[in-house]
Amino acid sequence: MTTSAQARPSDPHGVQADPHGVRTAPQRLSVLGATGSIGESTLDLVQRNTERFEVVALSACRNAARLAELARTHRAKIAVIGDPAQFAELKDLLSGSGTRAACGPEALIEAASEPTDCTMAAIVGAAGLAPTFAAARQGGRIALANKECLVSAGEVFLKEIAASGAELIPVDSEHSAAFQALAGSDPKALERIVLTASGGPFRTWDIERLSRAVPEEALQHPNWRMGRKISIDSATMMNKGLEVIEAFHLFPVTHEQIDIVVHPQSVVHCLVFYSDGSVLAQLGPPDMRSPISYALSWPTRMRTPVERLDLVKLGSLTFEAPDEVRFPAVRVAREALARGGAAPCILNAANEEAVAAYLDKRIGFLDIATKVAATIEAAESRGMIVDLASLGDVLAADSESRKLAQSLL
Ligand code: NDP
Repeated sequence: MTTSAQARPSDPHGVQADPHGVRTAPQRLSVLGATGSIGESTLDLVQRNTERFEVVALSACRNAARLAELARTHRAKIAVIGDPAQFAELKDLLSGSGTRAACGPEALIEAASEPTDCTMAAIVGAAGLAPTFAAARQGGRIALANKECLVSAGEVFLKEIAASGAELIPVDSEHSAAFQALAGSDPKALERIVLTASGGPFRTWDIERLSRAVPEEALQHPNWRMGRKISIDSATMMNKGLEVIEAFHLFPVTHEQIDIVVHPQSVVHCLVFYSDGSVLAQLGPPDMRSPISYALSWPTRMRTPVERLDLVKLGSLTFEAPDEVRFPAVRVAREALARGGAAPCILNAANEEAVAAYLDKRIGFLDIATKVAATIEAAESRGMIVDLASLGDVLAADSESRKLAQSLL
């Protein structure tokens, strides 16, 4: 298994830990995508446990005001803004704070390369690839929320992790759940992994209604508060398709061994089936601070303010089969995984472009999966589904696929 095999309780990076892996010195932490939903949840936990963390770098794309506020609160060493147009504001807001302000993609990579014990990789989309690779190269722990690293760059990213000796711990709730349910198990006894899906805001909508679904409705996730891009992916269920690809790279399973079940309450996050008939599941309320805390504190656990489950109050947990007719995105993602090579990277790039077009109201809700599938077909006929050997190959395939997707949008 990639994650648990690479994740070690010992300390390869000079972090002080007792023989049981319990940290005794503050953990040096960088948060890439600090102003986003995952970034804010991470820093909420940091604020509640200030003695455990020392914040190194924080980053954002455009939100200079919030980035400066977070940098001051957490006494970050560096704050990086992606958009150069926001740099003057950031510098101004941080003057006299002791935090160094920087801007642009190169500065982001430089900040991500600063030595840390843990990097929360929470930039949304393929924009997170280069900084997360840079963080992986410095060899600390990567708490991975940016699923695009595994979807677009799967094997290339895992090679980078293996080469640097970094630890990879998943943050996505389903993968964190699988990581927990797989702990200490015999990989040969693993039969299948079942990822749960809430079904999103349109779970019960018919096709005709889906064809008219507007972004404001699609952004209303019933259980989770997340960024805009992943909220749309949850509505189309492309998010579950991306998660199948993510699970394929993280765990010792074939893609046929990864199933999806719709579970509207989002309480059971993943189930792991073993050859003796046992099923191990991880449960918790839909609050990302649980999986985030696990990624930060593994192999120990951190106290969080997450609401405790009340099973009696919940009364019942329900499960349904996914409907690939109304939500074809999972099938499209599975086909891309089966094609291999650059296909998942093309899938991700086309999906990012299609989601942006939908949010701009340039295409309809049902067009998202159709356009993604059409981009992959067009890429195949142009001979673009080749093997990717380096981050440069991944970024080139991503860029070319975006152009192709845009031409089809
Ligand atoms: P958000 O949209 O809420 O936040 C994204 C963060 O990335 C912000 O800090 C944003 O800065 C920054 N950012 C956006 N574009 C760029 C760019 N081009 N360059 C540098 N930084 C950029 O996203 P989420 O927190 O929801 O998601 C983050 C990642 O975690 C995604 O990959 C998502 O799939 C994954 N994930 C999220 C979950 C969730 O519950 N939210 C659950 C599981 C996985 P700014 O604020 O300035 O725009």
